[in-house]
Amino acid sequence: MTMDMTTEEMQLRVRLAECYHLINYYGWTEMIFNHISVRLPGTPTRYLVNPFGLNYDEVTPDNLLVVNADGQLITEAEHKPNPAGFALHGAIHTARDDIHCVIHTHTNAVCAVAMKQAGFSHDNFYGAQLFERVGYHAFEGITLYDEERPRMLESLGDKHVLVLRNHGIAVGEADVARTFFLLWIVQRAAEIQCHAGQIPGPDVLISDDIKRGCARDAATLISGSSAADRMFDAAVRKMRKERGPLWTGDKA
Ligand SMILES: [Zn+2]
Repeated sequence: MTMDMTTEEMQLRVRLAECYHLINYYGWTEMIFNHISVRLPGTPTRYLVNPFGLNYDEVTPDNLLVVNADGQLITEAEHKPNPAGFALHGAIHTARDDIHCVIHTHTNAVCAVAMKQAGFSHDNFYGAQLFERVGYHAFEGITLYDEERPRMLESLGDKHVLVLRNHGIAVGEADVARTFFLLWIVQRAAEIQCHAGQIPGPDVLISDDIKRGCARDAATLISGSSAADRMFDAAVRKMRKERGPLWTGDKA
């Protein structure tokens, strides 16, 4: 990393690279596609993102790119960005100054739920935590075009989870660990919904009041405690124990 980079940026690069490796570790990748983006501190319109063409486990603190809201490279780099794939991230970052990290995934469970008219069930432990916290955006094709941005943002509203119908999901929070925590809840909710759907017989339903309280507590756990940091750090420790150093020079 260059000498003029701030300590804060270096720490953020490590955190984001760890997140790419975690998404790979849990099997939530989509080949070389999808992004995890994070806003650079003190620069509201600059973001760190993965180089196009690398697997998530090839992302390092050093090879992360700095791009603008259109996904265009704004500092020189060995690798190239994928501006077309950044449209979703750029739109959310530009419109929401409370969202500094965005993760987009296409896992089987999430894509299956995104196909269902009713969307997420809120009658399992994780789904209940998402009650009234999910926005839904109708499919318009691959999210490449600027003209779709306003409609995407309208679908997101003031929420932190956006189901891209017939496509996948985007989640955004205040930092990398909190976004990962929220994604984990979303992924677990989708997996359980898919499994429960295969079991004949009616579900046990949860009242709206209980779901509302559950969702409120889950949101507070993310925003108002260190739970997300503790979980992220624990997941990274587990991954490093199993896999060893994540990149050349990884000293953690
Ligand atoms: Zn996608």
